[in-house]
Amino acid sequence: MRVATALNKILSIPGAWVSGIAFTPAGVVVSLRRRRKLLRCPCGRSTRAAYDRAVRRWRHLDLAACRLYLEAEIRRVDCRGCGRVRTEEVPWARPGARHTRDLDDLIAYMARSMDKTTVTRLLRVSWEAVANSVGRVVADGIDDARLNDLYRIGVDEVSYRKGHRYLTVVADHDRDGAVVWAGEGRDSDTLKRFFVLLGEERLGQLEAISADMGAGYAKAIEEARAEGLLTAEVCLDPFHIIKLANEAIDKTRRWAWNLARTAGEEGAAWVKGTRWALVKDPGELTASQRLILRELRSSRSVLYRAWEMKETLRDVYRLREFGAAHQFLDRWLARACRSRIPAFLKLSRTLRKHRNNILNAVELGLSNSKLEGLNSKIRLINHRGYGHHSAAALIAMIYLCCGGITVRLPTER
Ligand SMILES: [Zn+2]
Repeated sequence: MRVATALNKILSIPGAWVSGIAFTPAGVVVSLRRRRKLLRCPCGRSTRAAYDRAVRRWRHLDLAACRLYLEAEIRRVDCRGCGRVRTEEVPWARPGARHTRDLDDLIAYMARSMDKTTVTRLLRVSWEAVANSVGRVVADGIDDARLNDLYRIGVDEVSYRKGHRYLTVVADHDRDGAVVWAGEGRDSDTLKRFFVLLGEERLGQLEAISADMGAGYAKAIEEARAEGLLTAEVCLDPFHIIKLANEAIDKTRRWAWNLARTAGEEGAAWVKGTRWALVKDPGELTASQRLILRELRSSRSVLYRAWEMKETLRDVYRLREFGAAHQFLDRWLARACRSRIPAFLKLSRTLRKHRNNILNAVELGLSNSKLEGLNSKIRLINHRGYGHHSAAALIAMIYLCCGGITVRLPTER
């Protein structure tokens, strides 16, 4: 059997056959000849006349440990439909790519679960090449229909580049928190961009939006409401409320520490070691952290009172009945108001302002537990080395890992 015939069988490149093979320092180069003589513009128009021709190479899956390239003549077409010169599409690669579809898909599949350094080393491609492949697979695989049946969405901010930059992520509550959109920035303009993308009809169909109470998103929501485009209820996501409560705990610790220090008490140093005991989920406390809480309780520390208030706040979201949650929250606000702990006084004022939105979340059952998972998933993407580059590259990774995109491996086709 001739080498070309063997390679034809092994590679089975769609729409082309192997016409030659060369061993070069860069790797094995397989020349392809197109089956179709007719030229096709990416817009779908066919023509016979080529504008010009050039030879192009695409990196393909490795042949054993050798790099393998496909080489073919690629033609450009002066398309009357498009009114400009465009490069014809080839069946084995995505437009503009220097990787074959198979290699793109393999890279995207691996990028989903491996750190970037491992992918680049294993496949011998550059960091940029990984980002480009992911970008192409996502652009190819993302379905515009994902925006059609949105009723309950969650909006959240995500930081990257060590917290110096932000993205806004929109997720669909009714599809297990799948990301439907991500954009650069975290202000009202960012969310407005999403609203514009949705368009009036789909925006009007939204029933609930759960969001952070950061002023940015609220402004975009209020404006859309004022224009009569949006009727969705706004729900304040429990996760952010608990975050605020934890911040109040931190402030209370500093406050208590200063009080104890000025009073010359010994407790001052001890207050410092209490942070994790106070802010962690009670179910996840270690034995020594539980001991710290017990000691705070028996010494009637103000920190214990603060902790108790934070934990009770969590219970608002556990109440299934709207009336009950209503009463419970009002009692909590009154208690925080009387607590004489400055940070909790301030917290009660903030929460009072958002009372209706908190209760909306209870009534509509929109716990953002799915979005909490999303947040940690995105942090993980960052950790695996995909968050250091452009916002566009990170957004593509978020769609890839959290957007419900299917990646088909070359071996599974
Ligand atoms: Zn065209």
